[in-house]
Formats: sequence, C-alpha cells, structure tokens
Amino acid sequence: MSKFFDSRYEEMEAYVPGEQPADRRYIKLNANETSMPPSPKVLEAVNSKEILGMGLYSDPYCTRLREAIAGVYGLEADQVFVGNGSDEVLSFCFLSFFGEASKICFPDITYYFYHTYSKTYGLDALEIPLKEDFTIDVKNYIETDRHVIIANPNAPTGYRLSRNELREIISAKKERLVIVDEAYVDYGNESCIELIKDYSNLIVIQTFSKSRNLAGLRLGFAAASKEIIEDMNKIKFTFNPYNLSALTIAAGTAAILDTGYYKECIEETIRIREETAENLRAKGFYVMKSHTNFLFVKHDKIHASEYYLRLKEEGILTRYFKSERIKDFLRITVGTKTEMAEVLRATEKIIAGC
Ligand SMILES: *Cc1c(COP(=O)(O)O)cnc(C)c1O
Repeated sequence: MSKFFDSRYEEMEAYVPGEQPADRRYIKLNANETSMPPSPKVLEAVNSKEILGMGLYSDPYCTRLREAIAGVYGLEADQVFVGNGSDEVLSFCFLSFFGEASKICFPDITYYFYHTYSKTYGLDALEIPLKEDFTIDVKNYIETDRHVIIANPNAPTGYRLSRNELREIISAKKERLVIVDEAYVDYGNESCIELIKDYSNLIVIQTFSKSRNLAGLRLGFAAASKEIIEDMNKIKFTFNPYNLSALTIAAGTAAILDTGYYKECIEETIRIREETAENLRAKGFYVMKSHTNFLFVKHDKIHASEYYLRLKEEGILTRYFKSERIKDFLRITVGTKTEMAEVLRATEKIIAGC
C-alpha cells in the first residue's frame, strides 16, 4: 500500500474472483461462465463498420441497447440502466442509494460482492442467516426496515424464491429499496421485472455473463422506475459517462434480440444440469436442488476442499468457499456435455480411491 491510499478504505476487503491459472489448460467450472459461444448475431454485429467507427466516443446514453432491452421486457428505455457488468450496475446502485446513514441487509450466504462492497464503504449492513437448510426465511425480509438485496436464485446455494414471495417483501414497506439480483433467473425462474410497473421501490438487476454466454463482454443492466434510473444515470455521468464501449453496445443489442438462440442454450444447460445432478447423486453426493447453471454438492467420503484439489489435479477448476457454513460444499458450474462427462469421469476415479 502506498502512503497516499485514502484512510476511508481501511476496512476494505476486495472481492476475490474465481482463479484463472495459466500453468495448464483447465476445464473452467469455477465462475459460472459458459463455454457455449454467444449468438451468431453477435459475430455479425461486431463488424468492421463498428470497429472503423471507434475513432468516435460510444453513445453515453446507450440508447440502442436500452431500447432493445426495454423492448424484450415490455419496459420503456428510461426504465433501463446499463453498465460494465452487473457488478458495475450494483456499484452504481450502492453509490446512488446507500450512504453512511442507510441500513441494508442481505443473506449471510450469498454473492460475496454485497459483503465486500459494504465493508469497503463502511455501510451498516446486516447479514441475515439463511435457515439451516440454506433456504431464505421470507419473514425476516418482510419485517426489516432495512433496504434489501437478494440474489434470486441465490448463489452459491441455487435456492430460489417465487415472484409472489418477493412481491410480499417488496410491498411490505415501500420506503425501503429492494434490489433483486437476477444473475441466474433465466434458468427456469420467475423474473421480477414485470413488478417494476407496480412498485417504485424495486430494482431488478440482470447480467449478460451467464445465460447470454458473454461474461467477457462485461454487460449488465438494471430495470426500475424512471426516477431510480435517472438517479443512477446522474451518478454514472459524474463518474464515467462512456461506461460501455461501442462494441459492447453493438454486441449486447444483438444478443438481447436473439431470444431463440439463448432459449436453446438455456434448455441445453438445464438438461445437462439435471443429468449431472442425477449422476452425482448416484455416486453418493448430496446435491442441492439447483435453479441455476451450477451445482452445490458434498460427499460423506471426501471433504469438499479435498475434492476441489483432486479435481484441479485432474484439470478441472471448481469453486471452493472456506466460509464456515458452506465449507463442506463445492460449487461446480454446469459446462457442456463433454465437460461434465469429464467431471464425472474424474469424480469416479477420485471417489474410488476414498
Ligand atoms: C455472476 C454474478 C454477478 C456478476 O455478474 P457480472 O455481470 O459478470 O458482473 C452478479 N450477481 C451474481 C449473483 C452473480 O452470480
């Protein structure tokens, strides 16, 4: 640390992304990305015309992209905010709405970014324990006066709430904000986007990193009331007006419009997920019911930390979390059929030696 680093960051805890080791080729199942290619329309959209136009700044309003997203979800463009990954969108939410005086809450086991961000900026954040079986007690969130952040489905557990349960939380107290992070919603779940028209205290965040096969593009969006989006844009324009590159806008617009292609990819992922879960259960694993593109698993014969290391030796990267309540579990992203066959092959070998 240099002597210039501002003292307000004393409590800072940076988010640790999934590892990307370069010592060999790995099957990468540790960050819930996908090995499926993006829509062929994305290839067409990122063309030489777009590249030759890059002498000019990108559109700071990202109009084309916001209109396309709005069209797909039945919103107006001014109800949509776009950012450099949903992590940036989340950051703009925190910057816009949460300060020293505000109190927020989220589950103790969830996307770790909420924790790191709260720590970094010294927010009053309450981490509400999930129930013993990792389900969310909706009552906790109905009763609290704090602003709420919920990943739905949750990560890394894969558990989900229904739209009606979320509606109960959102409608209980209209003076608090409810942010629903829908990174995994496309894997067969109910989105809360349609509730935007009824509730002015709701922000729904989605990403192109999971179900749209575009983690490397860095694109996410928020849907909310016009007023909320206006606030977030004010913050964006004081911070980084051109937060999306021209290529991101072009690629994202093409991707969001190709709904048919992504529906097929998602259905394929769900099929592989269910098949893999069944195969792992047959090998004695406890596999949490998943509504996402990952599986959360444990086995009596081998500790998750050991299973993680052994899979890595076999050239397969997964995600192990050391934190107390989930230290017995391993999170495995659902990859392609070939990748998951490799996981099963390696697992069989590992378990046989236990
Ligand atoms: C992956 C993930 C994100 C991050 O998405 P980016 O758009 O890649 O920044 C946000 N929230 C949850 C719950 C995630 O799992």
